[in-house]
Amino acid sequence: MLLMATLNQPSPPKLRIALISPRGPLYRHRIGAWKKSLRYMPLTLTTLAALIPPELNAEVTLLDEGIEAINFDLSADLIGISAITGTAPRSYELADHFRRRGLPVVLGGVHPTLMPDEAARHADSVVVGYAEESWPQLLRDFVAGQMQPRYDQSPTLSLAGLPFARRDLLPGSRFTITHTIEATRGCVHPCDFCVVPTAWGRRPLQRPVAEVVAEIRHMRARRLIFLDLNLIADLEYARELFSALIPLKITWGGLVTTTVIRHPDLLDLLARSGCRGLLLGFESLSPQALAETHKAFNLRQDYYEVVRELHARGIGIQGCFVFGFDHDTADTFAATVDFALSAKIDLPRYAILTPFPGTPLFNRLKAEGRILTEDWTLYDGQHVVYRPQRLTPAELLAGTEGAWKKTYSYRSIAQRLFGARIQLPLSLAANLGYRFYAHHLRDYYNCDWYLGQQAAAEGIPA
Ligand code: SF4
Repeated sequence: MLLMATLNQPSPPKLRIALISPRGPLYRHRIGAWKKSLRYMPLTLTTLAALIPPELNAEVTLLDEGIEAINFDLSADLIGISAITGTAPRSYELADHFRRRGLPVVLGGVHPTLMPDEAARHADSVVVGYAEESWPQLLRDFVAGQMQPRYDQSPTLSLAGLPFARRDLLPGSRFTITHTIEATRGCVHPCDFCVVPTAWGRRPLQRPVAEVVAEIRHMRARRLIFLDLNLIADLEYARELFSALIPLKITWGGLVTTTVIRHPDLLDLLARSGCRGLLLGFESLSPQALAETHKAFNLRQDYYEVVRELHARGIGIQGCFVFGFDHDTADTFAATVDFALSAKIDLPRYAILTPFPGTPLFNRLKAEGRILTEDWTLYDGQHVVYRPQRLTPAELLAGTEGAWKKTYSYRSIAQRLFGARIQLPLSLAANLGYRFYAHHLRDYYNCDWYLGQQAAAEGIPA
């Protein structure tokens, strides 16, 4: 009888959690620039879902506005929203809506970490920093009716023993690559435009290599992307990780700095471990610009040699450049494109310098009275949000667009790809995707209205 009574007891009500990633200019349902062909599965929501303590018996829904519309009438006991700076206004819009409906909202991610007081105006609680320890604690407090207004990353945070991301909760068919993973967090460098050292400090955090390998095996991944910000921040760890990947016989891509060519053994390990593509921040060809932005370690690298050494090992390169440093002039655009073409960089990318709030760059430009707008939706790497030193905002915008178009003309694609002959089918597909983007920039990033306003205010030609 006792057993029957126990069986008949209703199970405790489930905690219903909805986790939302808001849309951005490049990452939005239907009208975004990146169709499925260029998307990989982000890890933020799937990681947060995995961190929910099992004893809470929670039911979790992941809503990625980059792939589907958000249901504004959704039912949940708690809403969690993760925001970067470009999506912060949208995240506040969503948060305000759900709070008006009486649903408690938690905001986290890099922008709330950079601007916690601003985020707090739109949330019942803000998670500042990495959430591996604070998010589970917040949830336990919430269930106990004691959720605090703010949770900070612990100074002793460790990445050991974490559960694997819940990739099963997002529709894999909407992404070209579902197998994304992180082995490390953070970066040791002090680049003054980068949010990483400002938001999370310069202490690198690493997962035990055995756990990374176990997660790759668990995913049954043959091809994956490491989303780490700098896989070689700790050289010994990088050597251990790359060595451990060799027996897995996978192919992978990731991010490193140009300093990788100082270490021939590491280059060889990269190739042997299955690395087939790397994203590198060249940022600028100008020594003054590199010094200005505290990326002086790039100064010691011969960029041509970086490309040659990686290509010699069959590793393709996504090379990132930034326009708008104080030393940049109207000549900078053509010089950068010429380098990208002559070095045969497989997939060049150009961004407009963006002073993310809280970074040393933002603080300097603010002190100099050069910040033109604090509309965070424009802080996406493709709008001019500050007054450049030797260019007008319109010249910076037009020069960047011109660089994209020249780099992704059919002639330039052929010159780069058939010159390098690295991963040709994949490189060609990626280049055609970028070509589409290069020729439709204005569809996604249109700041004519803003430049017009500025021009009118300043009496300059826009
Ligand atoms: S090396 Fe890259 S990740 Fe590290 S601080 Fe510089 S820009 Fe940021």
